[in-house]
Amino acid sequence: MASRPPSVDRLARSIEASGLPHPLLVEAAREAIAAGEPDSAAARADAIARTLLRPVINATGVLLHTNLGRAPIAAAPLADGIRYSNLELDLATGRRGSRSVHAGSLLARAGGAEAALVVNNGAAAVLLVLSALAAGRPVPVSRGELVEIGGGFRVPDVMAQSGAHLVEVGTTNRTRLADYRQAVEARPDTTAVLKVHQSNYRVVGFTESTSVAQLATLGPPVVVDLGSGLLDEATPWLAPDPPPAWLNGEPAVRQTLAAGAALVTFSGDKLLGGPQAGIIVGRADLVARCAAHPLARALRPGGLVLAALQETALAYLRRDGDAIPFWRMARTPASELRRRAVALGVGEVVATEAVVGGGSVPDVVVPSFGIALDGDRTAALRAADPPVIARVLEGRTILDLRTVDPADDELLKTATG
Ligand SMILES: *Cc1c(COP(=O)(O)O)cnc(C)c1O
Repeated sequence: MASRPPSVDRLARSIEASGLPHPLLVEAAREAIAAGEPDSAAARADAIARTLLRPVINATGVLLHTNLGRAPIAAAPLADGIRYSNLELDLATGRRGSRSVHAGSLLARAGGAEAALVVNNGAAAVLLVLSALAAGRPVPVSRGELVEIGGGFRVPDVMAQSGAHLVEVGTTNRTRLADYRQAVEARPDTTAVLKVHQSNYRVVGFTESTSVAQLATLGPPVVVDLGSGLLDEATPWLAPDPPPAWLNGEPAVRQTLAAGAALVTFSGDKLLGGPQAGIIVGRADLVARCAAHPLARALRPGGLVLAALQETALAYLRRDGDAIPFWRMARTPASELRRRAVALGVGEVVATEAVVGGGSVPDVVVPSFGIALDGDRTAALRAADPPVIARVLEGRTILDLRTVDPADDELLKTATG
């Protein structure tokens, strides 16, 4: 490195405390010198460090915050010192196994399905199902369900990518069984009917939609894109507590399959409370067709995701909702959040309204508590270590405790100092 001016190297070494690898320190030092502000090198290194992926404290009160990784996940189980896993090895026979047997089969069991396949996200699940079942074929969908979920997921666009031909049926506000029947009878080559959960909006007033049970009478397999991934309406993992009121009739995987859906797709990181993943559950023969499609290989998740998803599935089978961070946070009594807000001893204790977020149950709030600080303090809170993400309401900074792990209360308090 004879060509490097020694001053860059010396400056880079002087900011080693940031912990960044040398090439990034050199970059910060070079930029500082080029700007004629050598003293800014440490701040530039900090700016680089802040672009790295790191844990943050979510004080927004949005439980499934898209910018913060949606569902909170516990530490990745395989990361703790283990280098290999039996990802695709059958330990009983010593032969090649399948990466679907771990998290996938546990989730199938927890959701009351014959079989399951895990892919990278909900969009991938829909894409794979339509590609495997209906490429080149007509697929009837209600005009009221041609939704955009956000982040570029639009049902008509995903259908187009899969090669399936969208057949719009009914109207925006009303779609009857007869509308679907007409479409299916007009096109005997229909191999699937798609129903999409209106995750992030509601159509109210003069409305009518066709239930899964009705659609199942048509003949072709009914595919339901549930999105949010509530596993069971009865929420047995919260027993003896009843299902929380804020679920507000959210459709669930188990009941949708029981009503006659052949396949159901959903995200791993919404109401399921696991890592980012897409899950396809339902009839074993159709899941096998999805698994055998060439896209399945392109969409398959890695071992870290499957390990985290397996932990989530095991928690469901144990009926241990408290082991799933999303459900633990979602059902903490507001009185407990108030107690923690008082114990912080900073700002003013305020009642707040948390929301589920992630495009789920859009019209409900979850009563919560937090603290209010004067003025907009969000930039300083983001600069804290770990960063604290808050929101501003009517000129005050609100820190909602519903989305904060109690173990982080002290760090949150320090960040407000
Ligand atoms: C969220 C959602 C998706 C997309 O899932 P991702 O995991 O974000 O890819 C698709 N369909 C519905 C109905 C959804 O709610």
